[in-house]
Amino acid sequence: MNVLGIESTAHTFGVGIVSDDDSEIRILSNERDTFVPKQGGMKPSDLGRHHSEVAPEVLQKALIKANLSIRDINYIAVSLGPGIGPALRVGATIARALSLKYDIKLVPVNHGIAHIEIGRFTTRSKDPLILYLSGGNTIITTYLDGKYRIFGETLDIALGNMLDTFVREVGLAPPYIVNGVHQIDLCANKGGNFIELPYIVKGQDMSYSGLLTAALRATKNNRLEDVCYSVREVAFDMLLEATERALALTGKKEILVVGGVAASVSLKTKLYNLAKDWNVEVKIVPPEYSGDNGAMIAFTGLLEARHGVTIPVEKSIIRPRWRVDQVDVIWRLSEN
Ligand code: MG
Repeated sequence: MNVLGIESTAHTFGVGIVSDDDSEIRILSNERDTFVPKQGGMKPSDLGRHHSEVAPEVLQKALIKANLSIRDINYIAVSLGPGIGPALRVGATIARALSLKYDIKLVPVNHGIAHIEIGRFTTRSKDPLILYLSGGNTIITTYLDGKYRIFGETLDIALGNMLDTFVREVGLAPPYIVNGVHQIDLCANKGGNFIELPYIVKGQDMSYSGLLTAALRATKNNRLEDVCYSVREVAFDMLLEATERALALTGKKEILVVGGVAASVSLKTKLYNLAKDWNVEVKIVPPEYSGDNGAMIAFTGLLEARHGVTIPVEKSIIRPRWRVDQVDVIWRLSEN
């Protein structure tokens, strides 16, 4: 079967196509267009406008790259949440229109689950402890009895969002990433004097909003490079502490890192050190699939479609707060 996946939860509009016609699953195309504001943060209405403008071209490119016509598609998978309303609505509307016009079944996909499943697929990890780290999510999770259970998460803003906001507020961004390196790392690598900042881990959960406020305040009477260094160290060490406890609790032998923050070199270094202590393996999703993309939606949609998970058009409403642990992961029941 061929599955076309549509991603539009946040800044990226993406379309990917996967196929399992040769017995193994292959990714045939993965096209996207990401909204980058000229200045400031992202306004939800700008995301919606951007996505509707680029959608026809991204869709067409994905079909051409896959060498398929829309009539060759057996299922349309759509990322219904979690995400930002006006952005989600564009993807959902296009998916419904295609479904009705060409009589193709819809498959609802949770965006976070898609990050996890494309990570497992591309790194061939079987049963990892998962760190799902993106602009909007900071989650430590693993699979148990039909669900991805959450073993720790942020209590307020996401780690990625915190670092993005910090570099933007101090005038380093946009752009947030230069040649694959985040502005926080470019700045932190020139610092080295550690400044005391709030380190907040409550049980298994982390809180980043107080750290952001304190770091911004600290820039008034410290070198910016030293604040960059300190905020990065504190933010990642909080995550590492919770990760270490989750490892002890679950006894997993692999750590899988998915989501856009997976690209951070300094985080990777910290994780490799932790992995040595615990004698576990660290696997990191390849860059093409770390940020939001349509292929991960198509891939997860294919796993679901194989188990008969579809949704009628009239029920395909967006779910801006759809949590990872609310999804029945039925494809893993037969896997284990
Ligand atoms: Mg994401």
